[in-house]
Amino acid sequence: MRRQVLEALEEPACEHSTNENLKVCARPKPGQASGGCSFDGAQIALLPIADAAHLVHGPLGCSGNSWEGRGSLSSGPHLYQYGLTTDLKESEIIFGGEKKLREAIGEIMERFSPPAVFVYSTCVTALIGDDLEAICREETRKWGVPVIPVNSPGFVGSKNLGTRLAGETLFQYVIGTSDPPETTPYDINLIGEYNIAGEMWEIKELLDKVGIRILSRITGDGRFQEIRWAHHAKVNMVVCSRALINLARKMEEHYQIPYFEGSFYGAGETGSSLRKIAGLLKDRELERRVEELIQEEEKKLHRDLLQYRPVLKGKKVVLYTGGVKSWSVISALQELGMEVVAVGTNKSTQEDIARIKERVGADTELIDEGGSGSILKAVRSKKADMMIAGGRNMYVALKEKIPFLEINQERHTAYAGYTGLKRLAKHIAHTLSHPVWQLAHKKAPWCEGWADDR
Ligand code: SF4
Repeated sequence: MRRQVLEALEEPACEHSTNENLKVCARPKPGQASGGCSFDGAQIALLPIADAAHLVHGPLGCSGNSWEGRGSLSSGPHLYQYGLTTDLKESEIIFGGEKKLREAIGEIMERFSPPAVFVYSTCVTALIGDDLEAICREETRKWGVPVIPVNSPGFVGSKNLGTRLAGETLFQYVIGTSDPPETTPYDINLIGEYNIAGEMWEIKELLDKVGIRILSRITGDGRFQEIRWAHHAKVNMVVCSRALINLARKMEEHYQIPYFEGSFYGAGETGSSLRKIAGLLKDRELERRVEELIQEEEKKLHRDLLQYRPVLKGKKVVLYTGGVKSWSVISALQELGMEVVAVGTNKSTQEDIARIKERVGADTELIDEGGSGSILKAVRSKKADMMIAGGRNMYVALKEKIPFLEINQERHTAYAGYTGLKRLAKHIAHTLSHPVWQLAHKKAPWCEGWADDR
């Protein structure tokens, strides 16, 4: 495990390795797990594999950490939505939890017959020394079904590190273990796309139109079997730059699959990602089809957005999100005619920050500290019209009577692709023009001067 953690921290495809001042990813500080521990990150990355069983080996509390908190959808099986845990109690913590783990695996096999079981270690089971690898090896032999150890206990570091360790697990135990029934010259993998609110389905629709096939969904709406044959793809697209970059890099090294990091938020980013895929597939005819699709979709989008433009034009936004969204949503908002006056960067990589700076003016504030205080300060000092952020900031915005739109993984709306951008425009326009904001600024009826604004 030590080797895996060090490798994930020193990932050469991460910008830290090319930046002299930042030799490795920041090592965890006490209390860092409050923003999501490594176990949480590993589970976030693997849980969308919908037909697999995901068994958390540890106390019940760990399993409640992120289970059902994310809007990652499946078009078929729902086994991934079960909160499976060994639920360790004091006696197992003292005498070891291996017996309980074997019993849990047996129960899962008999009840659900899954194609695979992912077993996640947690702080407790790693500290008491349960030999996850050995148990998984023996249980795989016993049941004839892969039982895969995910060695990412919470104490090793951040959520991001856990995501990488999940990538390492896929590379070590899953990818390359099977072959697809057929391949085409247009097979790609989507890596780090979690099908939040069904976004992957809209991306698939676009790819289908030009004849690009998603060979393996890693992992949104994924199936265990398709991830086994991911090594047959011609191109890897890494949708979230923080997550699973190590997996894409290793697949390039071992299977010579080129990869790029891209996004589907906003028309510009969507077009650019489609062009990059076609370019890497090295097919002139495909490139022509992609160009035609982009022209057609942009024309339609332009028409569809006309109704929202008067409400959105010139409105000031504070954007507080992380990863790929921290820069690609900026482009999407600018395409809608809005001005991004402040952007959160504390969950962004150095590369994300460079991309943010390319897209905003010098007077845009970069909020590099977490916490609602700094976001509110930016909203006030920049006189922003609205806040677009993750769910945990929603109540702060509502208490402060600031129009708010949820953008992170808990949301129930897809914003990717051309259709997603139209939906984003509609939701922002509705948020901004909702009469509740005027009412919220009035005094309560029992207060003096009801008719007066504040
Ligand atoms: S794995 Fe460790 S840090 Fe993560 S939720 Fe469990 S106890 Fe907390």
